Amino acid sequence: MATSPRLELDLAVVTRSYRAFRDALPDAEPAYAVKANPHPDVLALLAAAGASADLASVGELDACLRAGFPPARLSWGNPVKKAADVRAAVAAGVHRFTTDAAADVDLLARLAPGAAVTVRLGADDTGSATPFAGKFGVTPDEAAALLARARDAGLRPHGLGFHPGSQQTDPDAWRRGIAAAARAVERFGAPVAELDLGGGFPTVHASGPVPDLSTCARAIRGALAAHAEVPGVGTWRPALVAEPGRALVAEAGVLVSEVVLVTARAGRRWVYLDVGRYQGLAETEGEMIVYRLRTPGHPPGAASGPVVLAGPTCDGDDVLYRDTEVRLPLDLAPGDVVEFLGAGAYTSSYASVGFNGLPPLPTVIRRTPDDTPEETD
Ligand SMILES: *Cc1c(COP(=O)(O)O)cnc(C)c1O
Repeated sequence: MATSPRLELDLAVVTRSYRAFRDALPDAEPAYAVKANPHPDVLALLAAAGASADLASVGELDACLRAGFPPARLSWGNPVKKAADVRAAVAAGVHRFTTDAAADVDLLARLAPGAAVTVRLGADDTGSATPFAGKFGVTPDEAAALLARARDAGLRPHGLGFHPGSQQTDPDAWRRGIAAAARAVERFGAPVAELDLGGGFPTVHASGPVPDLSTCARAIRGALAAHAEVPGVGTWRPALVAEPGRALVAEAGVLVSEVVLVTARAGRRWVYLDVGRYQGLAETEGEMIVYRLRTPGHPPGAASGPVVLAGPTCDGDDVLYRDTEVRLPLDLAPGDVVEFLGAGAYTSSYASVGFNGLPPLPTVIRRTPDDTPEETD
């Protein structure tokens, strides 16, 4: 008997997604955002495929090194870091860092002299399902000042970057980020070598239509062409980096769960599953990601009706969809399987260590469609 809940992850689909990303943005160094799914097999696959990785902690650094990423293909993308983080990165041979604050530039100058620094701009992340709302990034003027501060402190003012917000559904978000970067170059008075386009490339859910990768890539190419001549600086043709997270792993994952209880409350049908907010479905917070659902035990045309979909724990927040109209078969019963599609990103990495005694979401790796699954952590 396979355990429930579980994340079934098909590595062949990760490979396919990686190739599609390379095809859409062949000029950009693909730096996988590890937090989307840090499973060792995913990291090893992407390392072997030639990807780079964007990491945020010593734990992710160690996981990437174990997976075979050469240190030269690692960059520390988190602008919030401790002295111990910088020391560990330098000791491992990582020399690329993202920053967005003067104190962090000073920390890097002290502990990673000569390192390449990319300054993160605060992107207008309208259109993102999970906006940063001002948590990261600086204005173009502030970015120019940080690049100058880095240069004067013995660092390499190597790049500018932005993250347009995860699950970004408006390709204009990249246009706005590139325009801000061009303004920062103008204020800095010199063309920086690299432009980091961030992540945010959206994946398919039931929440509404999303632009495909080629549409995002077209917006990016158009904006780069429009800003290739920077007033007072001249031609700017930076090397490109992109940091896809969900775009490389979401489609590869199916979260398989089981119905525990069906009951009526205040005139609505409530369906309780054995998976919820705390076993990996954190992105249902605010109902921001609405997963496509499948009920394999029921014929596709089976009569269905609206439900409130809830998780199994004793926490009142552990309700997945209350306001979004979610429909499930009318004869759904305990033991029936409910599958969440496109769930390979931000699920297993978000699962709690054991809230209410429920274990973290296990991952079952598949290498080909008809491979025998093997369970790992
Ligand atoms: C999380 C993150 C990403 C990946 O975002 P996706 O929306 O999953 O593509 C990229 N860059 C940074 C800095 C991040 O924090």
